[in-house]
Amino acid sequence: MRIALALAALLSAGAADARTVIVNANGYTLDDIGRLQKFGGLIVSDDGRVERLLKPGETVDGDIVDAGGRTLLPGLIDAHGHVMPLGFIALQIDLSDTTSIDQALAKIASDATANPERKWIVGGGWNQVSWGLDRFPTAEELDIAVADRPVWLTRVDGHAGWANSAALKASGITAKTPDPAGGRIERDAKGKPTGVLVDTAMALIEKKLPPPTAAERAAALETALQIMASVGLTGVHDAGIDPATWALYEQFAKDGKLTVRISAMAGGADALRAIAPKGATGWLFEDRLALNTVKLLADGALGSRGAAMIEPYSDDPENTGLMIIEGAKLRNVIAAASMRGFQVNVHAIGDKANREVLNAFADIQKMGQPLVRPSIEHAQILAPDDIGRFAKLGVIASIQPTHATSDKAMAEDRVGPERIKGGYAWKSLVNSGARIAGGSDFPVEPANPFYGLHAAVTRQDRDGQPPKGWYANEALTLQQAFAAFTTGAAYAGQQERSVGTLTPGKWADFILVDGDVFKMPAGDIWKVKVLETWLAGKRVYARD
Ligand SMILES: [Zn+2]
Repeated sequence: MRIALALAALLSAGAADARTVIVNANGYTLDDIGRLQKFGGLIVSDDGRVERLLKPGETVDGDIVDAGGRTLLPGLIDAHGHVMPLGFIALQIDLSDTTSIDQALAKIASDATANPERKWIVGGGWNQVSWGLDRFPTAEELDIAVADRPVWLTRVDGHAGWANSAALKASGITAKTPDPAGGRIERDAKGKPTGVLVDTAMALIEKKLPPPTAAERAAALETALQIMASVGLTGVHDAGIDPATWALYEQFAKDGKLTVRISAMAGGADALRAIAPKGATGWLFEDRLALNTVKLLADGALGSRGAAMIEPYSDDPENTGLMIIEGAKLRNVIAAASMRGFQVNVHAIGDKANREVLNAFADIQKMGQPLVRPSIEHAQILAPDDIGRFAKLGVIASIQPTHATSDKAMAEDRVGPERIKGGYAWKSLVNSGARIAGGSDFPVEPANPFYGLHAAVTRQDRDGQPPKGWYANEALTLQQAFAAFTTGAAYAGQQERSVGTLTPGKWADFILVDGDVFKMPAGDIWKVKVLETWLAGKRVYARD
């Protein structure tokens, strides 16, 4: 009996040796009440969870991974990104680094040769100014690179596209095609289209683009997952998906290929009905995939003056933007989804859209219908009176710090010096007691969450502008920003009990990075490189 017990103890000690133990780490995590904690390593349980944290210098038996003193953080979570577009754009031709049209043509030709199966060659990022051209490029020039298939390349600003002759032909664009309202077809002296289409004219080509094949979609998802893991994301909230995308995510999850936890938001009420007819799915596949949320759009964007403002735009005095959904319709959609247990996340950028969505949430609560962690996505321009309502109504503000530092000049032109005080007002939101979640809106901005942490704490772009920070009174502390990308995002994804901090029982989702973010100058945070990314105790990314 004694021998048997001793043997069992030996065997179980042997099994315990297989557990992964990270030692010699410079670890940081928030604890369950939001305090920053330091630790020296962690034990990963057999099922991929945190068994316990180690003290600095402490070591125990197991499959030892020496962190070499590097900084270890919980995996970061992007509370608002677009996964498939991230992958698709990464797979397309990127001309943003080309400095001459010849260099661009060479790149386009080699991409076409490398991808003989693609029926269309698409990409973007060109800028004739950086090529030293004082005119737009032409279809004839593009034909030199690729003539056997249509080619469509959008300009760096997204407001024009460059087609070759095959693309013009496939889209039926001829000298007789009129310019659509709000757009222009570039033409020669005889009225013949020369290859560049501006603004709404771009749709003449874009509606002819073939939908991606199943293989292209799978490749895009694989690429997006790699990009996310490489920048330290272990979770993402995908801001609006269709049923086909959900099916692809499920397939990847079944195949064990989802290396980032995805909280998918159905893109509108129809997609919600199609994807989750029985109600919120809860977290599936060991907490790797969920559809608990519907995303609605209340207005447009600030750049194109589509964001709905209470008063007219400062740089367009006739225009107050446009509500996409409001009034009874907005309330009906939110109430119906809430009744079925869904979280409702509403995109609102302008102060009018934000007020209307807050009013709608308040009205529904007053009717006695509880809301499941309602969120306003972006919450960009807020009337001062509305800031305190987020906390009061329990509405999450899902913010994208890099939008502020990319948009700063444009945003101030649009809304003027007074209203901008309620713009990107993160500190005011936090001080009012609102819950915030951090994200990037990739691929509109880069997916790298360290760019977001940097923008949140410095209110500067990555060139260090402006030197004192843009309305630096709205900057967050690093701990607040770190919380937005960990515990805040986890809460917004209904998964704060399983991820967001490194705490016994939660998933061992963590990253090793090349610098101590909590000690370095704030201006350097964006330069941090992720060395390893671990999900559920398994390494899913290693730099080189
Ligand atoms: Zn978005």
